[in-house]
Amino acid sequence: MDIPDSLMSVQQTLSVYQTLTTPIWVFDFDNMSVIWANEGALDLWQASSCEELASRNMSKGTSATVATHLLNIRQHLLKGSKFSDRWTLYPRGVPRHCFLEYRNIKLDDGRDGMLIECVGQDLHSDSETLRSTEALRHTSLMISLYSEDFSLLYCNPAAHSMLPKALTHLSDHIADPQDWDNIKTEITLSDQFLVEASVFTKAGRKRHKMHFQHSQDAVTGKKSILVSESDITLLHKGARDAHHQARTDSLTGFANRLYLKEKLAAIASNPQATAGIIYIDLDRFKNINDSLGHSVGDKLLIAVAHTINQCVSKDMTLVRLGGDEFLLLLESVNHYETLTKISQCIINRLDSPLSIDSSPLRVTPSIGICLYPSDADSPESLLQHADIAMYQSKAAGGNQYHIFTDQMLTEVKQRSQLEQQLALAIKQNQFVLHYQPRYAADGKTIAGAEALIRWQHPERGLLYPGSFIYMAEETRLINQLGDWVLREGARQAAQWHRQGMGIRVSVNLSARQFSSGNFVDNVQMILQDTGCPAHLLELELTESMLINDIPNVAKVLKRLHKLGVRTAIDDFGTGYSNLVYLQSFDIHCLKIDKAFVQSMDKPAILNMILSLGELLGMTIVAEGIETKEQLSWLQDNGCHELQGFYLAKPMTSEQLGKILVQSKLTRYPDPAIHHSGGITETEMI
Ligand code: C2E
Ligand code: CA
Ligand code: CA
Repeated sequence: MDIPDSLMSVQQTLSVYQTLTTPIWVFDFDNMSVIWANEGALDLWQASSCEELASRNMSKGTSATVATHLLNIRQHLLKGSKFSDRWTLYPRGVPRHCFLEYRNIKLDDGRDGMLIECVGQDLHSDSETLRSTEALRHTSLMISLYSEDFSLLYCNPAAHSMLPKALTHLSDHIADPQDWDNIKTEITLSDQFLVEASVFTKAGRKRHKMHFQHSQDAVTGKKSILVSESDITLLHKGARDAHHQARTDSLTGFANRLYLKEKLAAIASNPQATAGIIYIDLDRFKNINDSLGHSVGDKLLIAVAHTINQCVSKDMTLVRLGGDEFLLLLESVNHYETLTKISQCIINRLDSPLSIDSSPLRVTPSIGICLYPSDADSPESLLQHADIAMYQSKAAGGNQYHIFTDQMLTEVKQRSQLEQQLALAIKQNQFVLHYQPRYAADGKTIAGAEALIRWQHPERGLLYPGSFIYMAEETRLINQLGDWVLREGARQAAQWHRQGMGIRVSVNLSARQFSSGNFVDNVQMILQDTGCPAHLLELELTESMLINDIPNVAKVLKRLHKLGVRTAIDDFGTGYSNLVYLQSFDIHCLKIDKAFVQSMDKPAILNMILSLGELLGMTIVAEGIETKEQLSWLQDNGCHELQGFYLAKPMTSEQLGKILVQSKLTRYPDPAIHHSGGITETEMI
């Protein structure tokens, strides 16, 4: 048989093999073809000639696993060693089970070929064994057999192609010591089990799903461990990505609430753990969303998140809780200093405007600080307490931080208790109105009375509005409460009027009440229901109620004016009255705030308000008169009406009723006259 040109250099060797009956052939790995074969090989391959055998395409029908296995063998050979293997050949489609030995052979063109020798054939295996051997060879499932002490006994081509080079012990395959410990424990406990483990492979670190099963080595009969494994790296990565995504805030890319929940649970489960949190809420962020739109709002939130993150080191986690609420989690912190430093850093950095769509926007944070476990003993209370501290910053005007204290918690509890009790009190009608007389300029004639609400608390006794009105306002219970006050005040005014001692009753309004759409209709209905003449009802507003939505305020005031109801501006001088609007509004009366009355050493403002009243034709009332001097000064300087403890304290309707009865009713207050006359009440002074 001719020796091809490519094998000239090994001509001598090959000619020795030429006539041997042991089949020997040269395989060109790159071209997947036989380039030389001896007589025995031609016989094995059922080939008529070397040329005919060379023309066969050996890559046809080769599975991916076999191809990789071949590649492995080749690499093995390149190192100079010999390799032997059991292999099934298919000469003309008929399976021949051969024991092959491989050696490297240099081709003339410099490439490496394989010299393959068939050292034996298995002619006696039963078909089942043969098929299972084939299946084992071709499957992509990695199958390996280990002795009881985890030494490698066998691996199929798929496993061979993946297991680390020169692996002798299973422990060299398992990458994570924890996984290895698990496997060793599990194998003593169960017959078979499944694990997912991080493993070393020829292709680097991978994630494998591994099935372990106790079995017997077919050769020695000794106990062994059969391992089948498959690569789930991609699947695992997908799951890990999904896990990560579920814990990431989609807007800012920082962690989210779920992440925080799990982190806090982990902290809580460790008795030694400490942590600090910084709870951040942006001040008046809603205004930005409302005025500039959500898209700008979103961009601003992203910019804020990155700004906050600039104050943070690697071991801290920034979480967006939702909306404009952020949180910084600092693990292993057990003192406030780090927390206050970071909080100050956040405040400082947010002090410079952020550029959003190339326009500068500034937001300020309200921050609450809390430590675990010294300030809170559970993840829930940790968040709650930080929130309470944050709220404290907000209530104090924002752009600051507060550290949680137990006192804050007590106050919050009291507030929530108050809220519950207040709702119940409205249902059970635990309120009463007291009346503080308002005197004409003579200081003797009662011109009217201001209705002041009192709560007859079943346990705490009589409560003044300062301790509950704010809560009613916050919880919107003020609508119901305010309605009741208005109706009760009008009812009382109507009753005194029917008894022939009509005095004007002034009722305080809350902003929410005044701005509700059906306010005037409601007033009208109350007047009808109670039979109160409109001019005997005065509504006390504050300046802050008049500065927003001016056109609507003007409309409401006009309608009230048309109804004949009087209006007064309460606590005048403390707000931001626009004098121009004041002139155009239908308002009858200004009540000078008691602060001005009580600081009479600086009478400039008093004088100004008095002349303003003269100028605008309004009744000027001074309230909070506590001394004879204050009274005299106001009387001397032309104040129209007078109210204060010096003249009379607020009293029950019965008490005032008695005074009204005792005093001789002379004439009704005339709504057309500013400083109306009325009944004289000398006993009051
Ligand atoms: P206000 O409208 O300024 O009412 C006058 C407050 O000053 C009353 O306190 C009254 O008792 C007190 N006062 C009267 N004369 C003097 C004085 O000479 N010296 C001092 N130091 N104080 C004097 P009160 O009853 O505790 O009411 C407090 C506030 O609660 C009221 O201030 C008013 O803003 C609000 N309020 C009272 N009743 C109602 C109501 O029915 N509805 C609403 N929305 N608010 C109410
Ligand atoms: Ca008032
Ligand atoms: Ca007042």
